[in-house]
Amino acid sequence: MQNAGKSSFDRTFEQKEERFVHDQLHKLSQQVVEWVSQFEKPAIVFEDLKDMRDSIDYGTRMNRRLHSLPFRKLREFITYKAAFQGIPPNEINPEYTSQACSRTACEHTTRANRDKKRFKCVECGRQDHADRNAAINIAKKGLKKLDRNVPALNTLPQVMKVRRQTSGPSTPQP
Ligand SMILES: [Zn+2]
Repeated sequence: MQNAGKSSFDRTFEQKEERFVHDQLHKLSQQVVEWVSQFEKPAIVFEDLKDMRDSIDYGTRMNRRLHSLPFRKLREFITYKAAFQGIPPNEINPEYTSQACSRTACEHTTRANRDKKRFKCVECGRQDHADRNAAINIAKKGLKKLDRNVPALNTLPQVMKVRRQTSGPSTPQP
């Protein structure tokens, strides 16, 4: 029994926490779908959940916290809200998306490109946050699967905002 030995205080606290997480997931998924909706032909691409967890590397303590995030629930919320905007979900095999350079003219793929949170292409020198670089590759893979052209990276809205939230500088996009 999961609740065995727990006081009513513990249970109330857990319910409050659950509600808080639920609310946050709703807000976050709302923001994702709103952001995506400003594109002319919006698309949402997911990578396999298991691989997403495997690729997380922020040190032992942070990993433990991130791994407990309800990714599945978040994905369900995003899919549900996106469907109302007519945006279908897509899924790709994320193999090599964290090792490949996201610059379309380069796309050099090697393990050496990545050092934990930092991505630096050993071929062309492009630098980025490793998760952002991987996210661009996932988007590109998804668009290819949909047989759609990949927009130039510098045409994406709010790129600067994303950069401020990541650690370290990012080189200009082609
Ligand atoms: Zn490169």
